Amino acid sequence: MADCIFCKIVKRELPADFLYEDDAVVAFKDIKPSAPVHYLIMPKNHIESVGHLESNHAEVISKLIFTAKKLAADANLKGYKLVFNVGREGGQIIDHLHLHLLGGWEKDEGRRLPHPDLDK
Ligand code: AMP
Ligand code: ZN
Repeated sequence: MADCIFCKIVKRELPADFLYEDDAVVAFKDIKPSAPVHYLIMPKNHIESVGHLESNHAEVISKLIFTAKKLAADANLKGYKLVFNVGREGGQIIDHLHLHLLGGWEKDEGRRLPHPDLDK
């Protein structure tokens, strides 16, 4: 899409710190990291969000996760989070589907989802 910032990065019309590229997927560093390691992995083709996925997108979504796994291994991450924000209510601000890879912390403190038994 013409005015999509991530489409522009994919086409090298805007700069980014690239980590990976193949025929279908790119990955680059998040400009405002929320974790010691914060990468964004996305399809080259413009898909708005997980809410806009169709069955023919299955292969590219699989590639996003395998790319995240490879980048996490390359960065020696022992544990990490993979996050898709979906829609404004879900915290999505850029409407080009992207997978956040977040990691590099020392401990799990405060990074677990609340647990019904452990967090009474
Ligand atoms: P989301 O809230 O899921 O839409 O995430 C968008 C992410 O894109 C945020 O973490 C931003 O810091 C990141 N971001 C925005 N602009 C850029 C950019 N030009 N290069 C790299 N990351 C960006
Ligand atoms: Zn786009």
